[in-house]
Amino acid sequence: SKVQDMSAEVVDSNPYSRLMALQRMGIVENYERIREFSVAIVGIGGVGSVAAEMLTRCGIGRLLLYDYDKVELANMNRLFFRPEQSGMTKTDAAVQTLSDINPDVVLESYTLNITTVKGFETFMESLRNQNFRPRNGDGGVDLVLSCVDNYEARMVVNQACNELNQIWMESGVSEDAVSGHIQLLVPGETACFACVPPLIVASGVDERTLKRDGVCAASLPTTMGVVAGLLVQNTLKFLLKFGQVSPYLGYNALKDYFPTMEMKPNLQCSNAACLERQKEYILTKPARDAAAAKA
Ligand code: ATP
Ligand code: ZN
Repeated sequence: SKVQDMSAEVVDSNPYSRLMALQRMGIVENYERIREFSVAIVGIGGVGSVAAEMLTRCGIGRLLLYDYDKVELANMNRLFFRPEQSGMTKTDAAVQTLSDINPDVVLESYTLNITTVKGFETFMESLRNQNFRPRNGDGGVDLVLSCVDNYEARMVVNQACNELNQIWMESGVSEDAVSGHIQLLVPGETACFACVPPLIVASGVDERTLKRDGVCAASLPTTMGVVAGLLVQNTLKFLLKFGQVSPYLGYNALKDYFPTMEMKPNLQCSNAACLERQKEYILTKPARDAAAAKA
């Protein structure tokens, strides 16, 4: 009957019920915890903006968005931004769209360059800020996603996360737009961004993820969308504790090749904060092993 059809529509029109189905099906133990988490996204370009939209639609608690750039018509070969947003800062344009999609997400817009002294200070302060205290969460940021397109900015995210002992994920798309990668970085436990020379990192893939200045790089919305999807999938697995979190996942679009690998920290890393985290990690190993044996 007409009445029954309408009630079915009410259930199906709630986007959250599809996410909660993950819990009913035993994939995720407690999907609702997603509302307690804060994720910082550095670089709201081709990858970062799409990652932000995915997390917003998944019902993340809070997103902190960092970028110094403005939306340009030249960005329209990517997803997410719209032509009428040209001239707006990327972070403000993102907040505009994301708050429309899901008004429950707490959105913070930081229009700044993280590599400047002032920008770095604000970046660090915002990551340390403990004001966001949802029902069971403990405030602060749960994960930082690096979606920038240059080496210097990645090194700055690396510095901040090593100093704060903050887990983060790095992402990149190559200059020729046909390969990319995501990588999990746990200070002291995995290689940091300074531990491994980045050009040697991806054996087997033509992984020139580090764009040269003044070179007009190619870009495809497909590759960027795939990398954003891999990044947010890994983020959901990390936050909601399901499946295996990838330490490194490469994507080669020409061969549909997805290499994975693990990278140990470098005892001779040039980053002092990395060496400190490595020391702590070794010192706390017996306690971690004991806890693991108990569980
Ligand atoms: P293109 O360089 O191809 O024109 P883009 O600059 O938009 O594109 P993307 O790869 O799409 O590059 O996105 C990277 C994003 O990271 C950009 O929006 C850029 O402004 C941002 N970004 C890069 N470095 C920094 C930094 N130091 N601080 C803040 N944001 C940064
Ligand atoms: Zn290191």
